[in-house]
Amino acid sequence: MSQYRAIRGMVDVLPDETPLWQMLEQTARDVLAAHGYAEIRTPIVESTELFARSIGEVTDIVEKEMYSFPDRNDDSLSLRPEGTASTVRAAVQHNLIQSPQRVWYMGPMFRYERPQKGRQRQFHQLGVETFGVAGPEQDAELLLMCRQWWTRLGINDVLTLELNTIGSPEARASYKAALTDYLRDHFDSLDEDSQRRLDTNPLRILDSKSVTTQAILDDAPSMAEYLDEESQRHHERLCQLLDMAGLTYTSNPRLVRGLDYYNKTVFEWTTDKLGAQATVCGGGRYDMMVGQFGGKATPASGFAAGLERLVLLMQTLNLDAIAAPDLYIVSSDENAFGQAMLEADRIRVEFPGLGVVQHLGGGSFKSQFKRADKSGAAWAMVFGAEEMVSGKVTLKALRANEEQMTLSREELDVFLGQLEQLTNEY
Ligand code: ATP
Ligand code: MG
Repeated sequence: MSQYRAIRGMVDVLPDETPLWQMLEQTARDVLAAHGYAEIRTPIVESTELFARSIGEVTDIVEKEMYSFPDRNDDSLSLRPEGTASTVRAAVQHNLIQSPQRVWYMGPMFRYERPQKGRQRQFHQLGVETFGVAGPEQDAELLLMCRQWWTRLGINDVLTLELNTIGSPEARASYKAALTDYLRDHFDSLDEDSQRRLDTNPLRILDSKSVTTQAILDDAPSMAEYLDEESQRHHERLCQLLDMAGLTYTSNPRLVRGLDYYNKTVFEWTTDKLGAQATVCGGGRYDMMVGQFGGKATPASGFAAGLERLVLLMQTLNLDAIAAPDLYIVSSDENAFGQAMLEADRIRVEFPGLGVVQHLGGGSFKSQFKRADKSGAAWAMVFGAEEMVSGKVTLKALRANEEQMTLSREELDVFLGQLEQLTNEY
């Protein structure tokens, strides 16, 4: 074994997995484009303060998960743990929010967590952010767009939308006070984590994993009693739009999300197929953040999906993608190899939709065919001694049960045209 290993929690995606990743990413790009969302690319490193202020000083991410370091100028920088802060920073910096915006980003995020299935230290998110629409129709559009993505991936049936509203900052503050009062009376029965959070971030206690804490919460005051009228109307209209679209959801009054910046709508898409790492996508509204970053007060809402968890889910459902060439070209000797190389080159120009792999490194026909088979190619294309004389080529089906064919160049082009069309239908 080599002396170097990848850093703990940072994972290599190997060639047999990348086709599934690419399919996931391409499907996302297609769905986003179909909804009028444009890509934004921000740096992976930002000032530590940017994340601390927006995500919240007393959140798990900022308290213990950030990769922060002083640069050579002694400025504190951090690898981004999520994408919303950077996107808002860029939107304010470049005046993007003068009119409504719909943007997305995709890329690596970094959090120092305990690595396990579906939880890494470098992981990948697809994030979507929208600016300028205050109404619930924006939230509805985001959720419908998610559903389209899940449907194209074939995972819609195993995902549940959990929905909640956490109201205005004022409503949340009075609810926070009431919840804190109630929980203080039960302090000794709370789990250790929740005891610690009572003074720093009591709302996070709502999603505590401890069974005893959850039992105490059964009689706790509920957010609904403290909700402001506007947030309530917002939520009712959102539910109405989702109902109209036939998008079913589960109301989860204890859903609060781990980041401080949300208000009104919050949601998570969860699955029971991935064990403890059940949330594949989460988001909500964050109407205060743009103003907090020095921009003109602008409503905003968005979500982020975890790509590793989506890949795991698709693998669990056997929805694997494979990338196999259409043609694998074998040749009998140096002379035939040269001819085959020119022909491969020509085919790639004239039939750009086809995947054409030429065997390199020589060897017997038998060993070349073994490699052709292993490549997953549909057809082997043979340049042997006979073909050199006749000027024709032989095609052997490697997957389907079809007759071997020896074709002239004209016949070959007709065949390749049909093959290309067939390939493009998938
Ligand atoms: P969790 O509760 O699982 O820690 P989170 O609330 O911290 O998730 P968000 O910050 O909302 O997660 O990020 C959105 C999505 O990104 C998550 O729903 C998840 O799919 C994915 N994600 C978050 N952290 C990780 C990680 N360490 N490894 C892999 N995926 C992650
Ligand atoms: Mg987390």
